Amino acid sequence: MNFSYWEKEYLISPSDYLIVGMGLVGLQTAINLKEKHPKASIAVIDRHGWGLGASTRNAGFGCFANVSEILDDLKYDTPENVYETISKRYHGLIKLQKKFGDHNIDYQTKGSIEIFTRKNKHELHEAIDSLQGINTILSRELDLDRVFTYKSKCLLPGVIGTIHNEYEGQLNTGKMYRTIYRYAQSLNINLIGGLEVLDWNGETQITVKTKQKIQLETNNLILCTNAFTPNLVDEDISPCRGQVIVSEQMDQLPIEGLYHYDNGYYYWRDIDNRILLGGARNYDSIGETTDKIETSDVIISELKRFMEEQITGRPVSVEYQWSGIMGMGKSKQKMPIIKKLEPHVFLAARLGGMGVALSASVAEDILEMIV
Ligand SMILES: Cc1cc2nc3c(=O)[nH]c(=O)nc-3n(C[C@H](O)[C@H](O)[C@H](O)COP(=O)(O)OP(=O)(O)OC[C@H]3O[C@@H](n4cnc5c(N)ncnc54)[C@H](O)[C@@H]3O)c2cc1C
Repeated sequence: MNFSYWEKEYLISPSDYLIVGMGLVGLQTAINLKEKHPKASIAVIDRHGWGLGASTRNAGFGCFANVSEILDDLKYDTPENVYETISKRYHGLIKLQKKFGDHNIDYQTKGSIEIFTRKNKHELHEAIDSLQGINTILSRELDLDRVFTYKSKCLLPGVIGTIHNEYEGQLNTGKMYRTIYRYAQSLNINLIGGLEVLDWNGETQITVKTKQKIQLETNNLILCTNAFTPNLVDEDISPCRGQVIVSEQMDQLPIEGLYHYDNGYYYWRDIDNRILLGGARNYDSIGETTDKIETSDVIISELKRFMEEQITGRPVSVEYQWSGIMGMGKSKQKMPIIKKLEPHVFLAARLGGMGVALSASVAEDILEMIV
């Protein structure tokens, strides 16, 4: 196919910066670059029409930490890295709110509750024993007074203890993505869906090859490809699928706010008089180590069982179900990977399961490396 003059000159013309991945990281990286260099030509491409990995498929938790995940993370990484990642998430959340406005992303600080049942008795005792130490470190790192508080009471069945974090909040994933996408468009950033990058070559002028046989020229290539990065470069990143269900609307919701359970493997919240529940990845960890955006019967029926037994206490119908792909460390480390791969090729990936808040910090950190 020959391209028209218009296509060549205005749609796929050479760019100063070409970003691969139209997720939260790619879009915010493009926005930050454009605000720093208003005259630069910037394009963001994606293999799908819009970002289709995790950014439009998550649960909308504005979260930064829960106690059992911190204790688990400390088994695989240094305390410095674990607390720095939490700090990046917390400060990222504030950046998201300030830049785009609570109203435009529907941000509400309803707080979060981690529940423990008899099955997690041991984890509960560990969490209570570590609470004071973790709070002391977090108050120094985040300048917050007592992030976690233990409470014994909870209306949900079989719960023997809870730990509250009043600083976490929830947002509307769809509204947030749309707001950020439109903001990028308003800055004249060229957003092009339907181009899958296969490879690139060149040192100062980079030629990017796509599956669609369209070649793009750029001075700087920035990969914001999260879970799908291993298809392009060899890094400590593994795709992990997460599945989500949303109930029918209910007159009376059994809970409000954010909930975590079982080291963060189960999480749920209210949205528009419904319960959104995600997780259970540990139920089939081998099967869920995949980048296929499909749902599986095993996980969906486990989520449905959990919803009815642990949350609603009665049968409910499920009206939505979907999956998304997270980028996790094979080493189980959670610090995002932000690095220069070649003189003009950069990577910002491995956002993990709490990447919404983190995305704003990562998009700022990669900018510092590029300019
Ligand atoms: C089910 C689920 C629930 C989650 N819930 C939460 C939550 O409640 N709170 C929270 O903080 N985090 C949550 N997360 C994690 C969070 O959504 C992610 O960490 C974050 O969205 C990652 O953003 P990203 O831009 O790095 O990646 P992505 O959104 O995955 O974007 C990467 C993009 O790169 C594109 N791409 C990849 N390879 C190529 C290529 N070769 N060529 C062209 N395009 C390419 C993909 O199509 C994709 O659009 C959840 C994730 C999932 C899956």
